[in-house]
Amino acid sequence: MTGRPTPIIAVDGPAGAGKGTVARRLAAQFGYAYLDTGLLYRAVGMKVLLQGGDPSSADDATPAAQQLKAADLDRDGLRSDEAAVAASRVAAIPAVRAALLDFQRAFAASPPDGSAGAVLDGRDIGTVICPDADLKIFLTASLDVRVARRLEELRQRGLPAIHTEVLHDMQERDRRDATRSVAPLAAAKDAFVIDTSNLDRDAVFDRVLGLAGGIPGGGSEKDDR
Ligand code: C5P
Repeated sequence: MTGRPTPIIAVDGPAGAGKGTVARRLAAQFGYAYLDTGLLYRAVGMKVLLQGGDPSSADDATPAAQQLKAADLDRDGLRSDEAAVAASRVAAIPAVRAALLDFQRAFAASPPDGSAGAVLDGRDIGTVICPDADLKIFLTASLDVRVARRLEELRQRGLPAIHTEVLHDMQERDRRDATRSVAPLAAAKDAFVIDTSNLDRDAVFDRVLGLAGGIPGGGSEKDDR
């Protein structure tokens, strides 16, 4: 250990803004570990549903978060909209967020497999989990574009893709994520905000790479494209 803090990149934004794609690509490019923090909330939400509980109930969701295991993150159906809605319900409960905080911070401070740094994507990485991140990106896109992307993703996975349902779920999730009392969805003051509505994946990635120049490993020869 050198005592030098591990470089951390935070990628936040609403559903369908393109966070996962950018974060995964950044991690591959820099040789960093990647953590999809939404998966933690999805896993807690699904666990509560499978136990017959109510994802909005702190009594049901808090123990599920405190006892979250690696196997819960491998469960089928975590990418479904049912899991997403349950996730946004458990995510509004302060004790659930508290239970998941240490895991996320520990991942960022000591990324697995000896990785040189960490990329975390979510809603509150730049504001709450890693306020000292070396680079903070906040991606947004119009609701129409985000819904269209989500429909395409569901179709590609062979899952039911009904426009009115996806639109309704996304609006409900946006509202809940932005208005909850703890760690609401918001760009950190020092985040770079990028509207991806009219940008393709490569264009978004190129912009982010341009911002990452000073990060250790940034601009390295490794490129997954
Ligand atoms: O990113 P993803 O769409 O998988 O997240 C699912 C839900 O989990 C979000 O709608 C949000 O309510 C919650 N979440 C959160 N904080 C994070 C990541 C996800 O509240 N850091």
